[in-house]
Amino acid sequence: MQVEDHIHSLVELRRDIHRHPELAFQELRTAAVVAERLKALGIEVHTGIGQTGVVAVIEGKSVASGRRIALRADMDALQMPDHKDVPHHSTYENHMHGCGHDGHTAMLVGAAEVLARTRDFDGVVVLIFQPAEEGAGGAKAMLDDGLLERFPVDSFWGLHNWPGMPTGSVVVHTGETMAAVDYFDIEVVGKGCHGGMPQEGVDSVLAACHIVTALQSIPARNVHPRDSAVIGVAKIHGGDEYHVHPNRVILSGSVRAHKESVREFLEKRVQEVARSVAAGFGATVEIRYRRNYPPTINDAACADIAREVAAQVVGKENILQGRLPSMAAEDFSFFAREKPGCYVWFGNDDDGHTHSLHHPLYDFNDGVIPLGVSYWTQLVARLLPI
Ligand SMILES: [Zn+2]
Ligand SMILES: [Zn+2]
Repeated sequence: MQVEDHIHSLVELRRDIHRHPELAFQELRTAAVVAERLKALGIEVHTGIGQTGVVAVIEGKSVASGRRIALRADMDALQMPDHKDVPHHSTYENHMHGCGHDGHTAMLVGAAEVLARTRDFDGVVVLIFQPAEEGAGGAKAMLDDGLLERFPVDSFWGLHNWPGMPTGSVVVHTGETMAAVDYFDIEVVGKGCHGGMPQEGVDSVLAACHIVTALQSIPARNVHPRDSAVIGVAKIHGGDEYHVHPNRVILSGSVRAHKESVREFLEKRVQEVARSVAAGFGATVEIRYRRNYPPTINDAACADIAREVAAQVVGKENILQGRLPSMAAEDFSFFAREKPGCYVWFGNDDDGHTHSLHHPLYDFNDGVIPLGVSYWTQLVARLLPI
């Protein structure tokens, strides 16, 4: 197949997946479409790993080197509306590929098609199509399902499209690239009472408001100013009436950091501050704190290789420097915690693509597809030379 025809078929695949977005661990159709396309290559394909994950294995002309690498894409969509006016608009109510995982999936299928045809490498490439990146930890589900025992690899490689950077540009961070994220629910327990008789109760709403404010002192006054930390209360639930003070208010939110040591410290301080502020008002707290994704840390040697390969694809001048790491989280971190790895950003913007990830008008830019396919195949050539 000609290169243009191949890219055209990947654009069609991307748009087909965009029309049929599936949420975390429900990617049955997407996994079936991916598996069918991979099986047509005559390569080893495994389905149902980590519930809906797909793994394919491609051996090079030689495997004498003993080297094995994993390339990873994510397949899940978001629960959100699609407000775009395009022919490939989502056909599922309130489901949307608002993070471009449709594009990531299509690019890795495209790389598999090139690699299976040429097999111009010495070693083994393991292709991972993971479920549930958006909060539910599909990467961890695949690891817990024996991914590394069944398909051992020496390193993991990932990419994400990145709005806010022009198409044809790439960012590769050394070290910190995406943050850890943990979730909390702080249930503030007071004593409900009549609105006109506040002296009879313990005001859980007032205590909760002070906790929300006091939590901001943790990143501002307890963390080193050069270390990253974000604490956000995103939900407040409590009360039903204008004149009845409720017994309980629940505060829920997220905590983010790049360093594990900061992450540990934030967990401790959130609990201390919530408890002691509540006590000052005569209230108590019940805290549920859930570790979610670890930070994504790019291995320095892997980052150098990724930068070098990306420069071959987009030109050295288009490797953007000085971009800060993101405080968003990524479950690629579970892979990068097991083996050295690198996760890179590919610019997604042009005149027709200006919306951020998770925006109802966001669309993956099909112009990134040839770049992603080239990156994957040249990365394999660099890591597994004949
Ligand atoms: Zn996302
Ligand atoms: Zn994403």
